[in-house]
Amino acid sequence: MSLSRGRSHLATPGPSIIPERVLNAMHRPAPNIYEKEITDITESILSDLAKFASTTGEVVIYIANGHGVWEASLVNLFSRGERIVVISNGVFGLEWASLAQKLQLNVTLLDFGFHKPLNLDNLSELLRNDTSGSVKGVLCVQADTSSSVLNDIKEIKKTISDNGHNAMLIVDSIACFACDRIEMDDWGVDVLLTACQKGLMTPPGLSYCFVGERALAESQKKQNVSPYWDWKPRINPTVFYQRFFGTAPTHHLYGQREALDMILEEGRDNIFQRHEILAKSVWAAVEHWSKEGPITLNVPQEKHRSRSVTTLRADGYDLSELRSWLKNNTGLELGPPLGFAEEKFLHGKSVCRIAHMGHLNPFMIQGIISTIELGLVVCNIPHKAGGSEKASQTIISG
Ligand SMILES: *Cc1c(COP(=O)(O)O)cnc(C)c1O
Repeated sequence: MSLSRGRSHLATPGPSIIPERVLNAMHRPAPNIYEKEITDITESILSDLAKFASTTGEVVIYIANGHGVWEASLVNLFSRGERIVVISNGVFGLEWASLAQKLQLNVTLLDFGFHKPLNLDNLSELLRNDTSGSVKGVLCVQADTSSSVLNDIKEIKKTISDNGHNAMLIVDSIACFACDRIEMDDWGVDVLLTACQKGLMTPPGLSYCFVGERALAESQKKQNVSPYWDWKPRINPTVFYQRFFGTAPTHHLYGQREALDMILEEGRDNIFQRHEILAKSVWAAVEHWSKEGPITLNVPQEKHRSRSVTTLRADGYDLSELRSWLKNNTGLELGPPLGFAEEKFLHGKSVCRIAHMGHLNPFMIQGIISTIELGLVVCNIPHKAGGSEKASQTIISG
């Protein structure tokens, strides 16, 4: 018999939990897209997002998923044959590099695997040896959603500057925007990317490029950018429809506006702190389980973990059984593995992910943790009992 009736919880890292308020805001008739309401909502979304990213730069909005802004950032800045460096700590870094290759950019991949952030010495050496300044851009995923590895963006910028190198820094914050801290201008990010379906709590379909001064100037030199992705008319529209190069995504805008209202009500610092506490409580539970048996956090060092998602492993054990038991019997759905194709990870089956991005509170985290623990018992996966108590202690101590 299954007990899974009732409210279910999808803990896959994107799309994240959509608040009722966001859903309700979208539930209305179509507006007239030629009237001021939609123009005003769009402008307010762009300006609130810029504030959240801590930038005085421009914000470009696309009707697209994250892959759309991956492509947009590259076609607006680089031409065929130009050299870029892609830092990778998981599937998303590798996929972004592969997209750049399809655009016929000359990609140097710095691949650090799936368990640790980049080694700054490797980047430094590469840039130091690039005496001709051939590297035009350094691309980095802030938090790779497959591995849950977090990179230190500020240090990457410092490494570029310390080597007297001119490469632009382009950062994918799609998974961790509004979860892990970002200070775009302060940290020296030239282009920042995000999308609406993770920390921004809105159904997939909107994505954003934040464009700093230097990147804007670079892009203005570039002709023949494919018209849909060209950000120049979107940044300086002479008529409103150029913001989207066509019909505005009306209901997504209502949803995103409502989500940003919730974000403003909570406050930026509180949002970062809540994600920190919730992430730490998940880590405390997993670390406790790991004291007896195969379960382990994929990223050993706390400072290298994102607060938006946690990848855990049980090497040699098949967690796909755990995931399907949880889904079919309890209403909890964990994130499937991405990557980890090696035999020792049972081609990914010994890996799963817990999303803790966006609309989440201790009640939900406690539900996730204690329900997983129930699954571990039923599926006979050895672990030290009592993980959810560790999670609560972390919430209390903050
Ligand atoms: C989700 C995600 C993407 C891609 O987003 P899509 O909307 O699926 O195209 C890119 N990068 C990171 C780090 C992500 O988490």
